[in-house]
Amino acid sequence: MNEALTARPGMTVGILGGGQLGRMLATAAAEIGLSCHIYAPEAESPAFAVAAHRTCAAYDDEAALAAFAASVAAVTFEFENVPAATARFLAERIPVYPNPDALEVSQDRLAEKQLMTELGIAVAPYAEVAALNGIYSAMARTGRPAILKTRRMGYDGKGQAIIRTGDDPVTAWRMIGEQPAILEGFVAFEREVSVVLARGRDGAMRAYDIVENEHQAGILARSTVPARVSPDIAAEAVAIGEKIATALDYVGVLAVEMFLLPPGSGPRLLVNEIAPRVHNSGHWTQDGCQISQFEQHIRAVAGWPLGDPTRHSDVVMTNLLGDDIAAWAAIAAEPGARIHLYGKAEARAGRKMGHVNRIKGFSR
Ligand code: AMP
Repeated sequence: MNEALTARPGMTVGILGGGQLGRMLATAAAEIGLSCHIYAPEAESPAFAVAAHRTCAAYDDEAALAAFAASVAAVTFEFENVPAATARFLAERIPVYPNPDALEVSQDRLAEKQLMTELGIAVAPYAEVAALNGIYSAMARTGRPAILKTRRMGYDGKGQAIIRTGDDPVTAWRMIGEQPAILEGFVAFEREVSVVLARGRDGAMRAYDIVENEHQAGILARSTVPARVSPDIAAEAVAIGEKIATALDYVGVLAVEMFLLPPGSGPRLLVNEIAPRVHNSGHWTQDGCQISQFEQHIRAVAGWPLGDPTRHSDVVMTNLLGDDIAAWAAIAAEPGARIHLYGKAEARAGRKMGHVNRIKGFSR
């Protein structure tokens, strides 16, 4: 532990982004005596309500960014589409964790895939599609069905279009807004899993148990721990996550989403995506572990020792999307359930309004 660089109790950690992840980070920080300064451009940011300090300004407002940097011991971010230039501007003034290079890799699906390939980590067959005329040679590489994904700014299934046999690829190209993209072969996975781990400033790493994830329309619907995977697969998933974190000289919580393939001749795990932040598939840790992913991330960023990630309960985490939140009172009354709501005013379809962690085998 480097005392000089540590954010001691009473000090402030800066967070770029004001969504629910920033909100839960700020709450976790408060529980260990740290304050948070949330920097977000949207006045309605859910994290503002629970933060000790707030700046509502654009990500390219250098005066506001400089004042923000001067007010905190370290900076982190809660979503990966913070402009890399913003992270770099801040990094010249104050430690930024994870580092801007890690942020930048995760912002570009092509760079991310290339890094995995360099590290010898298996991914789905893919090809770059820089312009429409590249789509045909890409399809020859991936076969069909395939998924066209924008290189940048895609999340929760946005910026994606499936191309099936017989489909006109021009339709998919238009659907994603005619932007630089990658084409990915469709993976017939057995299930989806993720590893959520933390790496401290000293390089120490602690992984949570592997999570099994179910998506609907590209959005995470449910996460279950323990995942139905063998100890060998679980160990392999953690090793993949650790390899990525080490290669990126990463500090903080990192999530790696993976496809588990049925047994066959090739690798069982393919990396789909990395998230350089706390992740929806780690929300179960709030009620299944002594130290949640949110506190763990704050600890890493603040230079504290990492906490024990051991799971003490089996948990099913269900997202409350859009109108699901209407059932809040019934969920709040359920034995063994803990509801987490994000304080968002408007329940638009598919919008993440909250989640519920249900402890399995709970009895009164
Ligand atoms: P992503 O935005 O890349 O995380 O994709 C969202 C979800 O779409 C994933 O969690 C999968 O359920 C599905 N998906 C994405 N890429 C593929 C693929 N190459 N093959 C099969 N399903 C995919």
